Amino acid sequence: MRVPIQSILLAALCQAPAVMAQDAPPVGVATEATRRANAEVGASLPLADPRDFEAARRGLLAQIPGGIIRADDGRVVWDASRYDFLDATAPATVNPSLWRHTQLDRIHGLFELKPGLYQLRGYDVSVMTLIQGKTGWIVVDPLLSAETARAALALANQRLGKRPVRAVLFTHSHADHFGGVRGILSEAGLQAGVRLIAPAGFTREAVSENLLAGNAMARRSGFQFGATLPPGPTGQVGVGIGAALSQGTIGLVEPTEFVTGDQPVLTIDGIEFQFIDTPGTEAPAEFMFYLPAFQALCTAELATGSMHNLLTLRGAQIRDGLAWSRYLDEALVRHGEAMDLVFASHSWPTFGAGPARDYLARQRDLYRYLHDQTLRLANLGFTPAEIAGQLREPAFMQQEFSTRGYYGTLHHNSKAVYQRYFGWWDGVPANLHALPPEQAGGKYVEFMGGAEAVLAKARQSFAAGDYRWSATVLNHLVFAEPDNAPARDWLAASYEQLGFQAESAIWRNYYLVAARELRHGLPGAGAVQLGNPEFLRAVPTAMLFDSLSVRFNPGKAGDAAYALNFEFPERNERICVLVGNGVAVPRMGCRVEDAAATVTMNRITLDEVLLGQATFAERVTDGSIRISGARASVESHIAALDQFPYWFNVVTP
Ligand SMILES: [Zn+2]
Repeated sequence: MRVPIQSILLAALCQAPAVMAQDAPPVGVATEATRRANAEVGASLPLADPRDFEAARRGLLAQIPGGIIRADDGRVVWDASRYDFLDATAPATVNPSLWRHTQLDRIHGLFELKPGLYQLRGYDVSVMTLIQGKTGWIVVDPLLSAETARAALALANQRLGKRPVRAVLFTHSHADHFGGVRGILSEAGLQAGVRLIAPAGFTREAVSENLLAGNAMARRSGFQFGATLPPGPTGQVGVGIGAALSQGTIGLVEPTEFVTGDQPVLTIDGIEFQFIDTPGTEAPAEFMFYLPAFQALCTAELATGSMHNLLTLRGAQIRDGLAWSRYLDEALVRHGEAMDLVFASHSWPTFGAGPARDYLARQRDLYRYLHDQTLRLANLGFTPAEIAGQLREPAFMQQEFSTRGYYGTLHHNSKAVYQRYFGWWDGVPANLHALPPEQAGGKYVEFMGGAEAVLAKARQSFAAGDYRWSATVLNHLVFAEPDNAPARDWLAASYEQLGFQAESAIWRNYYLVAARELRHGLPGAGAVQLGNPEFLRAVPTAMLFDSLSVRFNPGKAGDAAYALNFEFPERNERICVLVGNGVAVPRMGCRVEDAAATVTMNRITLDEVLLGQATFAERVTDGSIRISGARASVESHIAALDQFPYWFNVVTP
């Protein structure tokens, strides 16, 4: 996964008991249909199987009291006790399979996997692994926040004896696997030659995945992770790969070594690591590794005790399910005989040679099944919705929790496979140039006999427990009449029941945030800081200008064609921007002689302006930015760059 918005103000969800006024939809309670659906799930799965709980508790050495981690200023950045409600049996408002999964994910502590191999679990969305090297710790994936990583390492040092950090491995380019690095390394430590090891392409991917599409992706991340939902039986019940995201300080430190090539082997502080480079799978840059001394395989995030996402709900580029499956098979071929332990950077380990092999084989088969069956059905002529509708769980998924869809789902992952090969269009001409939602909504409502008739029909579907359909119909009505309060309320109720039934934590979160926004509106402006100076500094200048071009609004710029030069002397970089035809084309290394203006500054100044720490005009005034030529042309260009509002509408037009 990837980081979201750290600083959304958590608005309290209305937790009042449901008021069942006549004609009002249910709020915060499971309907009879939802009770039945969740009970059926409970009856169909071996929920009493204790093996995962034994594995998740095995080797517990110590815990942070209460599971509470604070920042230096006292602010709570992690609080495991918020999930104490999970000690009860699953209520009707939560899918019992998801309930069980988050019970496991929230178990926290320092665990000994084998002497010399430890994990800190339940102190962030991700897991930090410690390997005892010859002279100190080798840290694998220092969590999302500096505060949680620092507290986790302190717990280990306290219990196992203090050791210096000799190396840090970042298994992949998602921030929950590197963001806490400054919590375990001081500046002195960085300068003292600590090895920082990452897969090839790590830095570029770490800063770029969320750059060009960042605002919309962050907004959707808020839905996916339930950022505005309090944890609880009618709220957030985990995120599928952990209980929650920590709310601390995210950093980025450039690695000192990159793992490339075929089957590379490194000796790190006396411990041999055999790497499998797995680009383009769960993350664009990622590796797994095998530790012969421990007979242990680290699967990074390719196998994490759940079905992962081939296309995450926040939005991302499609991941390659076929390559994913192949890499897991490669790990089996290379290490299946020798290994007797599999661990990852989320969830709990799998102990024992047989279970480890079976687990890895099932993970391999899961992605292979998704890939092959989607394409088999596509080649028979079925479209994405048809494929997702008829793709059945293979039998092993019904008995093996590690393959169930707590994060990804068969449904949306099969659509992702289709999209990887065919794109967004299902090939049906009516969908090639269909009307956008507001226009279509108005016409659907009119054709179906008007708002009252649609609402009455939708309520019948709701009463029958057909929430997928009531949501579809009511969505048309809300897009036709966004102020129609009963329509919003019944749509919210439909989403809520879908959320209560969802086995995937991120489906649940998405539906419940949607219900919340329909009922209470948007939390409001401000309070969301998306920029991060350390990330921005690592963004190549060319990429940064691409992100500015994404903000270029030709409607504001008018028809003028012009060029601007930008110079960053301390980096010895120059770039020109060619404006016209509705685009602003950046070209690195270029200087246009008759440009409207030339702007000279340090990159840090541009970063400050983009982060809102200073305005362009202020930096011109204090001399940090120098302009030769027409200053007005620079100012009008900047004025033509859109500011993206975080709180845009999702569930209404
Ligand atoms: Zn992760």
